Order: sequence, then C-alpha cells, then structure tokens
Amino acid sequence: MISEIKLKSQVCEIGKRIYEKGFVASNDGNISVRIDEDTFLVTPTGVSKGFMTPEMLIKVDGDGNLLEGERKPTSEIKMHLRVYKERPEIKSVVHVHPPYATAFAIAGVPLDQATMPESIVTLGTIPIAEYGTPSTDELASAISPFILNHNGALLENHGALTWGENLDQAYFLMESLEFCAKVNWIARQMNGDRELNTTNVDRLLEIKRHLGKESASPSGVQTASNAHAEKITPPLERSLTAKDIDLIVEKVTQAVVKLLK
Ligand SMILES: [Zn+2]
Repeated sequence: MISEIKLKSQVCEIGKRIYEKGFVASNDGNISVRIDEDTFLVTPTGVSKGFMTPEMLIKVDGDGNLLEGERKPTSEIKMHLRVYKERPEIKSVVHVHPPYATAFAIAGVPLDQATMPESIVTLGTIPIAEYGTPSTDELASAISPFILNHNGALLENHGALTWGENLDQAYFLMESLEFCAKVNWIARQMNGDRELNTTNVDRLLEIKRHLGKESASPSGVQTASNAHAEKITPPLERSLTAKDIDLIVEKVTQAVVKLLK
C-alpha cells in the first residue's frame, strides 16, 4: 500500500501536469484520492493546482467532513464523493476544464463516436451530464446516471470528470479524453470525422473484453462493407462524405434495377 506521504506528493505531481498541460487555468480543477474505504485526500480550494505542496492537501470522510488539514477542501467535493459512493473500487477522481473537451461540453456534443481504436478500448463513450451549478448536489446528481458504466463524463457548459482505479489511471483517462476531443475536432474541420464500422468496432470490443474493461463503448456505423449491412447509417451531425454518397447511389441504383427487372 502506498504511504500517505507518497500519495500526497503524487497528487501534487498530477496537479502540476494538469496545470502545465493547460487543462486548467488559475485555481481551477480538483483532484481526489481514496486512502481507505471512507477516507479521502482532496485538493484545496483557492490554490493553483500547478503550485500545490503536500501539506496543502486535506483529508475528509465520505460525507465531506474535515478530518485533517489547514485549508478548505475543493468546493466540488460532492461530485467526487458521489463517484466513490457509487463505485467502491474507484480510487481517484480528476476534474478539469481542458479546452477541447470543454468546448464539446459547451456545444452539447458527447464523445460517442467510434473514431479511434484507442478511445474505444481505453476511454469508452464519454456522455454529457446535464448542467448543474458547481459545488451543489445538482452536479453530483447529474453525473450519477453515468458513474457505473463509464470512465468519465463531460459536464455541460463546464468541463470534464474522469475516475479510475488509481490516480495515474484517472489522470491518463483525462489525457485520453482531451486528446480524443482534440482529434475529433480537427477531423471535423476537414469534414472527415469518419467512424469505424460495426465489424471493426466489434473486434476492438473483443480486445476490450479480454483486457477486463467494462465501460460503455461507441458501437460504430453500419456501412455496405459490413457483411450483413442492410442500410447505411451515416453518423448524425456531420455531412455525408463522397464515399457515403457513392454507397447511397449504388444502393439506390441496385433497388431501381431490381424494380425494372
Ligand atoms: Zn470545474
């Protein structure tokens, strides 16, 4: 088991990373770690996560009562504690405002497209939790429906939250989440955020099952190249590509020829 001193220095290290990566500005963001069943280390409010020192961290219980520390805990503590309450195996929660993911959260676009193998296997589908006033029970209730089957969620008009079985995992999921949002955004500018088809996604989901990962994943799109595809289902919210149009023309032509026979 990792000592509390080591755990505190790891939280400060991750704080530095989220600040240096531009996942937060100023004093934004918060990190928490479970020490035991009902004891948690949380970051303080009003302090830049890039400049935290171990003695600034605060210890609280599962109801948010202060157990140790000089400072006030993060105002977002309810959101963190809700995740721990609903998933006893979860050991760490990270909340930040990374620019691309936050833009998706503002636009109301979830990260649910099967665009990259790594995001399907590791990250899974990232839904959007309905807007809730920061620091209130509203926000904790908004994420509640997604805690069991996801690794994180976008917070509508606010930012992103990830949770994991240790601090590194929660942080790396956030890196993956922001990377996925960034790449999808760039691909959209090229009108090319094409999704993998269901056959390829099924193969990835098989790998995911072998790795013991259970979170929800995008299902991919059905295309004519799928062995049993009956219709083309282009993803919503994007224009048809030239390939999509060719496939539609081909299908329509086949149907007309059949009628004329
Ligand atoms: Zn926030």
